[in-house]
Amino acid sequence: PANSMEELVSLCKRRGFIFQGSEIYGGLQGFYDYGPLGVELKNNIKAAWWRSNVYERDDMEGLDASIIMHRMVLRHSGHEATFSDPMVDNKKNGRRYRLDHLVKDQKEGVQAKVAELMGADPQNFAALVAALNANPAQASAALKDAGVRDPFSGEVGDWTEPRPFNMMFKTTIGPIADDDSYGYLRPETAQGIFTNFKNVVDSTSRRLPFGIAQIGKAFRNEITPRNFIFRVRELEQMEIEFFCTPGTDEEWHEHWLERRLKWWEDQGVPRGKIEILDVPKEDLAHYSKRTYDLMYDYPTLGHEEIEGIANRTDFDLGSHTKAQAELGIQARVDENHDSVAKLTIPHPETNKPVVPFVIEPSAGVDRAMLAVLAEAFTKETLENGSERIVLKLRPHLAPIKVAVIPLARNREEITSVAKAIKAELQGLGLGRVLYEDSGNIGKAYRRHDEVGTPYCVTVDFDTVGKGEDASLTDTVTVRDRDTLGQERVKISELAGWIREKLK
Ligand code: ATP
Repeated sequence: PANSMEELVSLCKRRGFIFQGSEIYGGLQGFYDYGPLGVELKNNIKAAWWRSNVYERDDMEGLDASIIMHRMVLRHSGHEATFSDPMVDNKKNGRRYRLDHLVKDQKEGVQAKVAELMGADPQNFAALVAALNANPAQASAALKDAGVRDPFSGEVGDWTEPRPFNMMFKTTIGPIADDDSYGYLRPETAQGIFTNFKNVVDSTSRRLPFGIAQIGKAFRNEITPRNFIFRVRELEQMEIEFFCTPGTDEEWHEHWLERRLKWWEDQGVPRGKIEILDVPKEDLAHYSKRTYDLMYDYPTLGHEEIEGIANRTDFDLGSHTKAQAELGIQARVDENHDSVAKLTIPHPETNKPVVPFVIEPSAGVDRAMLAVLAEAFTKETLENGSERIVLKLRPHLAPIKVAVIPLARNREEITSVAKAIKAELQGLGLGRVLYEDSGNIGKAYRRHDEVGTPYCVTVDFDTVGKGEDASLTDTVTVRDRDTLGQERVKISELAGWIREKLK
């Protein structure tokens, strides 16, 4: 695995996985572009998630809802009122910080001093942040008196009171920009699932329990985007809303926790590197009965959330439904006089309409990518003493499955065979197969080790019957990324060989 974030950032840029967004104009903070290999890896991660959660189950449906949503959706979901992070300004330079990030980034002693001044337990960071939020005037004084420094200038700051900053991106819809024509870019994909609950039930005749899965972009105007693609303003999520009968929710919650850990393992992110945080009651989001945060041990950052698995009760459907009073909703929901749909489903036993409970496994694609890359990253010292970097990606995630390399790029008899092999292997539908004639063979191998290509196939003079050994005619060399072993394989058997290996 990678030792530091820097070595990952460097590899990602060098080999074309990830670039800073808008780079030629100086970059835009919190936005990244996925390059030629990044887009493949990302697509492969999403495909693996979709396969596991939609195709391999009989109780799931897929969805792709729009990104811009009616403001009523995000009002009744609670996002307009509560989707905010606490922010403080440094009056000396006008810079703004997310309060918890600011305190966390201070030297140990400073954090303890803030806790002492707030009368909070210095060992309990979440409780300290809660105390700072609850007493803004005292918080401002404590930050100053404890000598909290501005991470940008390094100087002790002059801090305002913390105040909530709503993270939703607002945009105008249509040609007239009046007070009523705004909408929001969704801050999570989940709401598109809840608003389509009735459509999906009506069109598929689903009964409880069943789930809806969605992968898509979400937007959060993070106060301090940072740590490469870990915290960005335009992100992608893979979310499931699994609807179940009230009373069976706790069992389903455990089911999804296990299932999701198993999936991470299958992507090369082992259980031993993920801590399960049973989020303490006082830190739970207002809609949640219980939440497990999966905390992956990121290089440099340490344990940070890669996925959240929440029991959201009947809060969401209960908030978006009409006729709330007659439905026996258990969560505390605000009144809704705007919705035109009753979001119920027959109870499996009584057949009476019920608002189901929801278990939500919600994972970030960008954070997944970072974890997968971190785990695959390997530095090896070879027998001859030289060092190689190799991405030991699971084959189903590798951006390029096979590179086909003609040993001489201007010899038609060799290139034509290489091109034919590339076309044949591409036809297997395993993913991208690359015709690679960009440099010498040593360089090509090094490059493909670094981007995780499982196999390199080389067409040489022997292949076309112009080498020393006639018995090698119509065979190619296949090189294994991990073992570095090389094997001669008959062209006629190559497709089957590759298919077997990449299964
Ligand atoms: P954090 O506490 O780190 O801000 P969160 O608890 O707000 O995250 P959720 O609202 O639970 O995150 O979102 C579900 C998932 O979406 C997270 O587990 C994470 O993988 C991903 N995610 C959330 N915010 C971001 C972001 N700014 N950049 C990248 N991924 C994100």
